[in-house]
Amino acid sequence: MSCLIHKKIAMIEKIPCLICGKLFTRPVSHVWQVHKLSAREYKQMHGLDIKRGIATKEYKEKMRDHVFANGTVNNLSFILKKDTNTITSGVTKQWHA
Ligand SMILES: [Zn+2]
Repeated sequence: MSCLIHKKIAMIEKIPCLICGKLFTRPVSHVWQVHKLSAREYKQMHGLDIKRGIATKEYKEKMRDHVFANGTVNNLSFILKKDTNTITSGVTKQWHA
């Protein structure tokens, strides 16, 4: 159920803050700054998976591109060793499915 919610969230252009209803690409930053709740507290309060990020698909793709562009992907080698099929030739096949 929670996974389905995260997939639906990722498909929309802006995500509403579940407290005040304002729209954001990544509402957790807003929640911290305005409502003084950590991401974990916010997700638990609304029944979301605490291990998954809340961001639009566009934001996730943009950040994924940055990881490859700035070389941060090299720091993630310990993750890549666990699942060598996740990333091939710098292009993600399926990062957060
Ligand atoms: Zn809010």
